[in-house]
Amino acid sequence: MDPETRLRKFVSVVKEIYENLSEDDAPVKLMKKVKTRSPFHALITTMLSIRARDEVTHKVAAELLKRTPTPEALCDMPLEEIERILKPLGFYRQKARNVKEAACRIVKEYGGKVPDTLEELLTFKGVGRKVANIVLYNAFGKPAVGVDTHVYRIIKERWKLLPNAKKPEDVERFLMENLPQEMWGEVNRYLVGFGQAICKPVNPKCDICPLREECPYAAETRQP
Ligand code: SF4
Repeated sequence: MDPETRLRKFVSVVKEIYENLSEDDAPVKLMKKVKTRSPFHALITTMLSIRARDEVTHKVAAELLKRTPTPEALCDMPLEEIERILKPLGFYRQKARNVKEAACRIVKEYGGKVPDTLEELLTFKGVGRKVANIVLYNAFGKPAVGVDTHVYRIIKERWKLLPNAKKPEDVERFLMENLPQEMWGEVNRYLVGFGQAICKPVNPKCDICPLREECPYAAETRQP
């Protein structure tokens, strides 16, 4: 089977699995509610989610955005207060500086509206391609693929669809070239939920995975 056909088949199975997962098993589902509320919510929540567990990010982002629902409010909040709210997250001091600076730039340079191009989003501190692409899809409905550690691991190391990938952009390009555009945005959520619940970074649950018969990683690690 060629990589494109295998990819589409695997993703359609994972989509079904994702749809049946609970928020406890796949906390990425919690994030959808915050990320799709407004472009500002999407940007701040996604910036906070870097190297943090979704269930913690969800609570912290909800508290911050309840207190500062607009870029103006977040720009005006003292840095120490933002740090206090973000404390449960890793790198909270750096994240506090980044979200405050982003909010102030949105107010001063963009008239209070989050910009909607990859190039502009990448100029914000704390926003890389993954964050920018997730924001473009969740906030503006633009076709974009966010590649995080779950997506990268599953495509490269578990399904071995792109074993020579060197960086997330390689996987991003591969997914865009081999999936229909209408799936680009959601594939991140499907694979992240699947990675959180089943194809975990350590000790993947191959014994209960519907893909185990066709998965190269499962074949390699199966007991004789
Ligand atoms: S069989 Fe194992 S490694 Fe392969 S996709 Fe399923 S959980 Fe991941």
